[in-house]
Amino acid sequence: MSSLHVGRDRHGTAIEDDCACVKADCGLVDGGKVHPGCDQHPYQLAKTLRQIHHADKCPELTDGAWAALLLETLDPVIAYMEATDEEDWQIDTVRSADGTTNCFFGHLFSMGGTDARGNALWDLFESSWASTYRLYPINDGTSSSYPQPTPKQRILAFLKDLNTGSVLTTPQQMEEDYNHWLAEENRSAGVHTI
Ligand SMILES: [Zn+2]
Ligand SMILES: [Zn+2]
Repeated sequence: MSSLHVGRDRHGTAIEDDCACVKADCGLVDGGKVHPGCDQHPYQLAKTLRQIHHADKCPELTDGAWAALLLETLDPVIAYMEATDEEDWQIDTVRSADGTTNCFFGHLFSMGGTDARGNALWDLFESSWASTYRLYPINDGTSSSYPQPTPKQRILAFLKDLNTGSVLTTPQQMEEDYNHWLAEENRSAGVHTI
């Protein structure tokens, strides 16, 4: 759930500039990080807030920050994919004629609404959840872990597993591989010192 950005004046941030609360990029106070000692913004003081918007609607929000808010969990992506028609899924690894979209990632890109946000979503999904390398076989139906009959059903099953943590995200997988490698290194180093 995204937090609120709040300001006491109808315009500008003169009051916010002088208080101890944490500010968002727009200069308003981050409603989730109000300073308890502030005499303007704590909700208990019940002072009128004349500017207010959700963090994900902040005019200063960058495409990357927007994507980060959206991908805190996979709930929004799952809801979007569930609402996508079965017929709109590309089967096999076929790419669209212009070569830019493909299966699940094509839908994720569209979810961005603009090219910049589509790219930001795609990049962040790959770096923080799972790479194309893992998604393509599931979409294609060549992954034995996801035998569902349609690409939509396979992708949804995988997204739900990722979301609940029953499969590792790509960064978690990399960390596990690294720890495994470290353990192996230590073991062979141990052998050599005998
Ligand atoms: Zn304040
Ligand atoms: Zn804002």
